Amino acid sequence: MTSCLFCKIIEGSIPGEIIYEDDHVVAFMDIGPVSEGHLLLIPKTHRENIYDMTEDEAARLFSVAPRIANALKEEFTPAGLNLLQNNGSAAGQAVYHFHMHFIPRFDQTDGFQFTWDPKVEELPQDRIRQIAEGIRSKLQN
Ligand code: AMP
Ligand code: ZN
Repeated sequence: MTSCLFCKIIEGSIPGEIIYEDDHVVAFMDIGPVSEGHLLLIPKTHRENIYDMTEDEAARLFSVAPRIANALKEEFTPAGLNLLQNNGSAAGQAVYHFHMHFIPRFDQTDGFQFTWDPKVEELPQDRIRQIAEGIRSKLQN
């Protein structure tokens, strides 16, 4: 028996308000929604986070995203829509089965905050160039 909450929802051993399912992914309503329509899209195969996903699994999952986004748009006509995906506790991940949040946005006071102060002094353009070089080198194999 799995101990993963989201695997249990896939198996049907705990309830989930499922809105979409195919051979590879499931989407269901978030139990602690930020806003009306807040839902989660997950792979059926247990993967902790983005680091564990294969390219095929990621492609299949994201291929459903426009359809879900448009269903939310049709249902709520929200002012905006955030897709959010947390990896690791420092990034706010609480459930360790990959999930992408779909969060319809209604106005600036709807309870969802996602802002940062750009570090223009600590990270000037030449440092950004150096950082980019490091990342590029990791993508070359
Ligand atoms: P994260 O912080 O990105 O790991 O998000 C985990 C999300 O899972 C939160 O928004 C929770 O409200 C949601 N959640 C936790 N348990 C359940 C559940 N049983 N059914 C639906 N959503 C859940
Ligand atoms: Zn799982």
